[in-house]
This record gives sequence, structure tokens and C-alpha cells, in this order.
Amino acid sequence: MSDRPSDSLSYDTFGLDRADRQRKDPQWVAARLHARDSFLIPVWRDHNLILPGDDDHAPSAVTLTGDHARGTLHMARDVTFLGQREGRSWFTADLSDQELFDLTPIMGRAEFLDLRGCGAFMDPFEAAMLAYARGMLFWHRRQRFCGACGSPTEAHHGGHKRTCGNADCGLEHFPRTDPAVLVLITRPGPEGGACLLARQPAWPDKFHSCLAGFLEIGESLEACARREVMEEVGIEIEDIVQVQSQPWPFPASLMVGMTARARTVRLRVDTDELETARWVTRRQFDDLGSLGIVLPRRDTMARFLIEGWLRKET
Ligand SMILES: [Zn+2]
Repeated sequence: MSDRPSDSLSYDTFGLDRADRQRKDPQWVAARLHARDSFLIPVWRDHNLILPGDDDHAPSAVTLTGDHARGTLHMARDVTFLGQREGRSWFTADLSDQELFDLTPIMGRAEFLDLRGCGAFMDPFEAAMLAYARGMLFWHRRQRFCGACGSPTEAHHGGHKRTCGNADCGLEHFPRTDPAVLVLITRPGPEGGACLLARQPAWPDKFHSCLAGFLEIGESLEACARREVMEEVGIEIEDIVQVQSQPWPFPASLMVGMTARARTVRLRVDTDELETARWVTRRQFDDLGSLGIVLPRRDTMARFLIEGWLRKET
């Protein structure tokens, strides 16, 4: 297994073979599901089974194998094939129909937790697999009925396609990913220049990030960045660069990280969207605490963009 490349951010399932050809064969999928060495990732209502960390240990994913995995399948509504790694298969099972009490036999000391609270501290491959599992099962739960005719749908291709059961319709539904842009806006100036940080009222206390928004139909990523920035803080941007992308299946996004330079600096903050937005100079990053600013977690695209800018020569 080669090392994880430097452009692979958190929640990228690097190293996983998604076995696109084999997963279309139901017999192959069934055989892999019942193989004793296959892994099963349990998911309950968008929460992953995780052994919480402590001072000496990082949090870790709980995966089921062998009899433990097979004994869980009867409780699952959907079981989806995720991929192959080092000759072993990975599946995920949706246990959301069960009450938490009924799952205590498989939980042990582990808990069903929101991955967003602990993924940054976990092994990158484990965190990516839990995110992938959670995202796939979220899609299944919301795709039970055909959007065209309302008939029930059935899963195929190891869970990577749902087909409408109405013979007159037969529409195929595939997992979807919604692109969102994150833009770190910078401007030159004293104290090493500045970047724009903002916060939404619903965010945790002091939490600040760069600007973000969802792509609309008929819009390029760059046009989306220009529109979101103009809507939220009223400035024009230029030199828009796509830096990196990151899977963000919470529940179904792809984050496209961008940088841009401000053409104008006077902010006109849309207070329906943002509580505040402000320029923060490079020097002020030495003591963000005194400004009452907390940065996004280190598993996020926003943090990646901010740290990339801070590392640049001024
Ligand atoms: Zn249909």
C-alpha cells in the first residue's frame, strides 16, 4: 500500500478499491458479505460505532467481522458494499430501525457517535470509511421511493444503484453528491496581508471560517464563488483558484476549496446569513484568542485553506 498522498484530505477513501465491475454481480457480493474476514461497519441514524478516545488513545472505529457481523445482518434495513482493501471486503449496515437498547450486544464499550465530532482525531482510513458508510446509507434512506412515479425502489449493484420497481417506469437512481465551494479571500497589506473570516449565528461560540455556498444549476464553481461572496459580504473577487477538493458526506457534499483575491475591501455583511465578517491579518493569527476567534477543526477544507495561506511567503 502506497502512502497517502499529500493532496488527500480527511474523509478521502484513499487505498480503497471500489470494485465497480465485481459489485454488479449479486453472487460475488453475497459471497463477499458472508466471507469470515469481511468487515461490516454498523451505522445507526447517521451515527457511527466508535470507541471513544482518552488521554492515551485516539478514538477508533468499531467494525464487525465473522459471526459478529453475520449476527447483525438480520437487524439491518440496507446493507451496502463499500469496497476492497488488501484482499478483504468492506460493507456497511443500516441499523436505524432498531432502538439503541437492542444494539447493546454489539456496542460493548463503544458508542454511536457523530463522526464530525471525532473524525479529526481518528486514523484517516477509518474516518474516511465511516464517513463513506454514513453517506451511502443516508442516500438509501432517502431514496426508497422513485422521484418520478412514487413506487418503491430496490437496491442493486451492491447498493450503488436503486431501481424503481414499477415496470412501466424502471428509473435508475444513483448516489448523488452536491458540490459546495469554500473560498478563502485574501488581500495584500500591512502585517503580512489579511484573509477574510466570518461566522454564522448558529455556529459554536467564537467559531469562524471562510465563506461557503452550494453550487446552483447552470453555474460554474467560479461563478458560484463570485455570487456567494457578493451576497454574503458585498465584495468583488479576482484570481479565483481551485486549490483542492474534499469528500464531505455529511450528508452528501463535495467541498471545493478555492482562494481568491479581493478587488474591493469594504465589507457589506448580509446579516441574514452571517453574524459577522472581518479581515484578520497574518500577524493577528499569532494570537487569535485575544480576538475571540476559534478556527475550524483540522479535518476541514476551511482549515486546510487557512493554513496553506499562512505558510505562504508574504
Ligand atoms: Zn418510478
